Amino acid sequence: MTMETGKLVAEAEAPASTAALAWFDQIRALVVTHDLPPEPPVYDLLWRYVRDEHHDLSLAVDRAIATGSLDLPTLLELRVALIDGITGGEVATLVEVVHGQAKALTQTIEVGQTNLAKYDRALGEGSSALSTPLEAAALAQLLENLGAATNTMQEANAKLAADLAIAVSEAKTLSVKLGAAQRAAVTDQLTGLLNRRGTFQMIEDHQKSAREKSEPLSLAIVDIDNFKRVNDRFGHALGDDVLRFVAQHLADSAAHFGGSVGRLGGEEFVAVVPGHSVPAAAGAIDQVRARLAAQVIRNAVDGSSLGRVSFSAGVAGDHPDDTASTLLERADKALYTAKRMGRDRVVPDRS
Ligand code: GH3
Ligand code: MG
Ligand code: MG
Repeated sequence: MTMETGKLVAEAEAPASTAALAWFDQIRALVVTHDLPPEPPVYDLLWRYVRDEHHDLSLAVDRAIATGSLDLPTLLELRVALIDGITGGEVATLVEVVHGQAKALTQTIEVGQTNLAKYDRALGEGSSALSTPLEAAALAQLLENLGAATNTMQEANAKLAADLAIAVSEAKTLSVKLGAAQRAAVTDQLTGLLNRRGTFQMIEDHQKSAREKSEPLSLAIVDIDNFKRVNDRFGHALGDDVLRFVAQHLADSAAHFGGSVGRLGGEEFVAVVPGHSVPAAAGAIDQVRARLAAQVIRNAVDGSSLGRVSFSAGVAGDHPDDTASTLLERADKALYTAKRMGRDRVVPDRS
């Protein structure tokens, strides 16, 4: 994928396809039947389900429907397990292995300490025996005992050193694996940005730090405009390329305003803008939008144009009693307004 500066092309909105309406009807039926909140994560998951986009997800939802357990917690769990690429299980397994290793190492050290105590006792007995005059035979026996104790101690020491060297090398490997698994658990596999879980953690970290420093904090939800059309026209694989392209654009831009970005899911991203009031953050995000919209995206393989890609964004400011979710909710409302007003724009939340 390469970038070029080109003319902006205004596009008329296509009518929603009949198939999409049929999917929507199925989602609505599921929401009503199972009394689910019609919120974006639920909708997103059911959207994937009715389109049968993810085999494991379809099976799991079928199972939940069959057992009457299709509720919000189940759906959120499925999201975490299947969509966000969370490897929490892998992290847990590695943590267990580390615990096991720490236990084995403790035992090795305890054996070493017992050997040392025995040797210490042998030396103590030898030195008290030497404080009284000894027969030659008794002295020879004492020297033999001390020699044997020293040999045993040396052997035990050598074994302990070897065991420790192995344990240290295993611990290093494990720590690298654990670090990789922990990173994977918060990384979106497609774009390399933080995934949904990582994004929530990142927002919470920023909220904590902004409140400690009594500094303003703003957040933008960025949603690619008419992205479904990109998939429809160029196929899912090129759609993925466009997602990576936009992700990279956002990540590069975040460096300008000292912020952090993550992928909330689908074609939705979050940009956290620390130290900025809502109007200032909206201005910064609008520049990011304008830079993206001014480019024509080309297929790096054959140079063909994929046209331009724009996004809409809603920006909200952190309130002292906000959680990551309530802050996102206000940004999402502003995003909705931006979409309603015609897309390719940034709307600040005024509350
Ligand atoms: P709007 O301007 O209202 O946001 O329209 P839209 O088409 O961008 O939004 P809509 O929610 O209708 O469609 C989003 C599309 O994003 C549909 C879904 O198939 C696609 N999508 C979600 N995740 C991925 C992904 O990982 N890869 C690709 N290629 N497409 C994805
Ligand atoms: Mg969207
Ligand atoms: Mg969109």
